[in-house]
Amino acid sequence: MSNVEAPLNTPVWVDESRCKACDRCVSVCPAGVLAMRQDIHSTLGSMATVIHPTACIGCNDCELSCPDFAIFVADKKEYKFAKLSDEAKERQERIISNNYKILDEDKKV
Ligand code: SF4
Ligand code: SF4
Repeated sequence: MSNVEAPLNTPVWVDESRCKACDRCVSVCPAGVLAMRQDIHSTLGSMATVIHPTACIGCNDCELSCPDFAIFVADKKEYKFAKLSDEAKERQERIISNNYKILDEDKKV
């Protein structure tokens, strides 16, 4: 049971109280939408984060791969998703090469 309400006009979101930082959602995303950020409050020291929401294509792979039901994708009837771009694919390759960690360019201070 999630304690997070679906935010409005958001393609994908994480219930941080459920995320166990297994990286699976980040590894399956084709569009470089997700990455793991450092989080000292998490038991595993990191947390799944939506870094490029506008690149989400609504494939649902993250939601289907999460063992903890911690990530949710908007309904296609309620949100207009992006198409998969070369830029998004290339970003995903870099995130995978970076061990699923957030890229320096996406870090917010
Ligand atoms: S729905 Fe697909 S594109 Fe969007 S974050 Fe999840 S895996 Fe990535
Ligand atoms: S698959 Fe689920 S538990 Fe694993 S990092 Fe992603 S949101 Fe967290």
